[in-house]
Amino acid sequence: MTGVFHFMAGSLGLILAICKLGICRHPVNAWLLIVGLILGAPPGLGIAAESRFGVLVFSKTTGFRHDSIPHGIAALAALGTEHGFAVDSTEDAARFTDATLARYRVVVFLSTTGDILDAGQKAAMERYFKSGGGFVGIHSASDTEYQWPWYGRLVGAYFASHPAIQRATVHIADAKHPSTKGLPETWVRTDEWYNFRSNPRGAVHVLATLDEATYSGGAMGTDHPIAWCQEIDGGRSWYTAMGHTTESYAEPLFRLHLLGGIESVANATSGCIADSERSR
Ligand SMILES: [Zn+2]
Repeated sequence: MTGVFHFMAGSLGLILAICKLGICRHPVNAWLLIVGLILGAPPGLGIAAESRFGVLVFSKTTGFRHDSIPHGIAALAALGTEHGFAVDSTEDAARFTDATLARYRVVVFLSTTGDILDAGQKAAMERYFKSGGGFVGIHSASDTEYQWPWYGRLVGAYFASHPAIQRATVHIADAKHPSTKGLPETWVRTDEWYNFRSNPRGAVHVLATLDEATYSGGAMGTDHPIAWCQEIDGGRSWYTAMGHTTESYAEPLFRLHLLGGIESVANATSGCIADSERSR
C-alpha cells in the first residue's frame, strides 16, 4: 500500500507541476492527464490523441491485384495511430467528390491498377490536389490510369515492366527528405523492381535510385529512379515504386519510408527541394 500511496502522491505532485504550466486550465486536459498518469502512459500520448490530419487510402484495382494490399492498409493505419493521423481506407471511387476529399490532407493510391476513376471523380481529384492536396503513390500506383495525362504527371512515370522478385541495392540520393533521412545510404532489400516507360528525372526530385548492377532485369540503365517527389499545380506529390511484397509492410525501414512520404505531402513545406536549391 505504501508503494501505491507514494505513486499516487508522486503523480499528484507531477500533475500539479504540469498544471502550473497552464495545461490544466481546461478540465478535460486535466482529466486526460490524470487518467494518463494512472495508466502509466506519458501525458498526451495514446490517450484521446487528436489526429493532426486525415489520410484516405485508395486501393481500387481493375488490373492486377496485389496480395499485399491489406498489409499495406494495416501498416498505414498503424503508422497513423503511432504518429497522430487518421487513416480511412476505401475501394469506392464514389468517395472522390469535392466534399469528401476536402476532409483529407493526403490521398494515397496504394497499389492501385488500371482505370479506377470516372471523369467526374478525376476532376474532383484534380481540384483537390490543385487546392493544396497531398498525393502518395505506392508501387503500382504507376500502373494506373494510363489514359489520364494529368495523373501521369502527378505520379511521375508509368510502369513498363519488372523482372522476378529479388534482392537489390537502393542508393539514397537525398538523405534530408523525410522519407529517406532515416534510411541507410545503401539500402539492400527484396522487392519487385519496376522499369518505367520514361525516366522522370528533370520533372521530379529523385530521392532514391536503384543500382541495376546488383540485380538482373533492370532496363533503365545507370540512372534508375525508384522514389521521388514533386511540388506541382499547388499540391505535393510523393511516389515510391517499392512495396510489392507482403513482407515489405513489416519492414521497419520501409514503414519509415512510407511515413516520411505521407508526412512530407501532408505539410505545406514538403521538404521536396533539389540539392542545388538548399543553400538559397
Ligand atoms: Zn507488384
